[in-house]
Parts: sequence; C-alpha cells; structure tokens
Amino acid sequence: MNSQSALVAGGGGFVGSHLCESLLEDDYDVFCLDNFGSGRPENLSHLTERDDFKTIEADIREPLDLPPVDEVYHLASRASPKDFQQYPVRIALTNTKGTKNLLDYAVDHDATMLFASTSEVYGDPKVHPQTESYNGNVNIRGPRGCYDESKRFGETLTVAYHNQYDLDVRTVRIFNTYGPRMRADDGRVIPNFLTQAIRGDDLTVYGDGTQTRSFCYVSDLVQGIRQIMKIDEMAGDVVNLGNDREITIKELAKTILEVSKTESGITYEPLPEDDPTRRRPDLSKSDQLFDFDPTVGLEIGLKRTIDYFEDQI
Ligand code: NAD
Ligand code: UDP
Repeated sequence: MNSQSALVAGGGGFVGSHLCESLLEDDYDVFCLDNFGSGRPENLSHLTERDDFKTIEADIREPLDLPPVDEVYHLASRASPKDFQQYPVRIALTNTKGTKNLLDYAVDHDATMLFASTSEVYGDPKVHPQTESYNGNVNIRGPRGCYDESKRFGETLTVAYHNQYDLDVRTVRIFNTYGPRMRADDGRVIPNFLTQAIRGDDLTVYGDGTQTRSFCYVSDLVQGIRQIMKIDEMAGDVVNLGNDREITIKELAKTILEVSKTESGITYEPLPEDDPTRRRPDLSKSDQLFDFDPTVGLEIGLKRTIDYFEDQI
C-alpha cells in the first residue's frame, strides 16, 4: 500500500492513461475506472501486472461502489466531435448523471476531486483569447450541444457540491490536446491528418482551413492537471489548461505534410455545423497559480505522435 491513492475515471482513454502513468511514477495506488467505450485496454497493458494499479470496468452513469481514495480525477467522457453525432445521449448523461455519481463518491470518502471540462464550454467564442470569466457562446440545440452543454452543467454541479457540501473540487477547462494513444479512427484533426499522411492519402481540411485551434502535447497537460489538484485555493474554482500557440487548420495541415515527409496533398471538405472559428486559451490564471509553461512544441509533439501512429497502422 502506498501512502496516497487516486481514482482516474476515464483512465483507459488517451489523456487518462498518461495521467495514470504519472500518478504511478509518484508512488500512488491507482484505480482506473473505465467502460472502454472510447478507451482501450491496450493503453494500460503495460500497467496491469503492477500491484499498485487496478482496473475497474464500470460506467459512471450507473450506481458506483468504489474503494476510498484521496484524489478523484473525472476524465470519463468521449471527446471527439464525430462521437457527438453517434452517442449524444450517452455523452450528455455521462457528463451530468455520471458527474453527480462521482461527486457523491468524493463526498462520501472526503476525497479531493478534479473535473475535466473543456474549451467547448466557450462554444464559438466571441471573446478571444478565452478567459475563464467568459461565459461562452454555445448553441445548446446544435450538434455539439450534448457535449458542450453537459460539460457546462457538470461544472455547475461541481460548484453546487462545493457550496452545499464543502467538497474540495476543482475544474480544468482543457483545450485541444494530442499525443500518443489517441485512436487512429477517433475523428479528431490530428489523428485524421497523421493517419492520412502516413497512408499517403490527402489531408482532409474542413472548410477553408482558416479556423484556428491551439494544440497542447499530452505530457504538458498532465503536468498541469497534477499541479491543479495540489493547489488548495483551487477548491470550487476553474482554470484553463492548454497551449496558447494558435494555428490555423490549414497551417496545421502544412506542418504535418512537412514533418511527416509525405507525398500527400490537401483536399477540402465542408465545414461541420457550429465548428468554432477561433480558439486560444488565455493562460494568465494558470501562469499565476503555478507558473504553467507548456514545453513541448508542436513539431516535436507531432513527431512523437507520428511515431506512435506508424506503429499502430
Ligand atoms: P478519450 O475518449 O480517449 O477518453 C475518455 C475515456 O472515458 C475513455 O477511456 C472512455 O472509455 C471513458 N468513458 C467515457 N464515458 C464513460 C462512462 N460513462 N463511464 C466510464 N468511462 C467512460 O478522450 P480524451 O481525449 O482522453 O479526454 C479525456 C477527458 O478530457 C474527457 O473528459 C474530455 O472531455 C476532456 N477533454 C479532452 C480534450 C482533448 O483535446 N483531448 C479537450 C477538452 C476536454
Ligand atoms: N478538422 C479538419 N479535418 C479533419 C478533422 C477536423 O479540418 O479531418 C477541423 C475541424 O473542422 C475543426 C478542427 O479541425 O475546425 C479541430 O477539430 P477536432 O475535431 O480535432 O476538434 P474540435 O476542436 O473541433 O473539437
């Protein structure tokens, strides 16, 4: 038994599996809860023999009977816009009913909790870059509504539990994050472009490619999540996490063509409804809290991710 313990809901997914590893490196006992809907057991296969790691296959929408822990990380939710079309009810209930179940669990065991929210709570933002005080511009009935609005309500629940039960719970709004263990068929832009580049297919830019995003490498995000869990003043509060280097999707495609040394070209496809036009985190708050400084540049992060996808494909 180690002196500290954590439960990572969504630990079988992309970000969650890296978080589990990071906690194990710091001598935590780690419980990984996942329904393996979008996550994969392979993400954890190198950990399953360890005594300090246990996988619990469960769905957070259902009643939970879980061991006591010191820290609860709630990362359980599909996050790809492609999935918003296919699983809207599951996603909406995971972030609302599922979040309530995990908040109750944290209250019962007096655990500290972290909720993974998203830059999607800003919708198609009219304030740029996005600060935590901005309330966003979300189409509640649109194709992204099941995710955006349920994350917003999840945040509201964390505030309610903090105010009513004095639960020590904090929220991070994660901006586009990428890296090894994303699924090749996930539908998000970096897995799409990298698998297309590796296969020699054209990269599919949606719209004219002038929409922007700011991409964070997964190790930087995990480092931020771990820091935020430790900051007492974060109880009941929210902070942006990501990388603030903003890039157009067309520039991203060109960078990937260069980094992957592929013969692929670019083709243009229709822009999905409600696709946000611009996105960049204002990181002043995280900077102030713990000197947050994402260190992995896009080209290096892309190279590491290409290596992973080359092995996968
Ligand atoms: P992912 O799909 O790889 O991981 C999510 C994990 O949660 C998967 O393992 C999935 O099986 C599990 N899960 C989903 N619903 C569940 C349920 N009802 N019960 C139990 N397990 C469930 O996605 P990710 O990119 O690793 O995202 C992790 C978290 O970070 C999510 O909450 C997501 O909303 C948030 N986030 C991620 C990004 C990003 O760019 N990666 C951006 C913003 C927010
Ligand atoms: N995108 C694209 N081609 C793809 C996949 C996505 O041009 O094959 C665009 C998408 O329209 C969006 C951006 O890339 O403008 C980021 O999309 P992603 O699904 O990764 O995440 P989002 O930030 O939209 O949630």
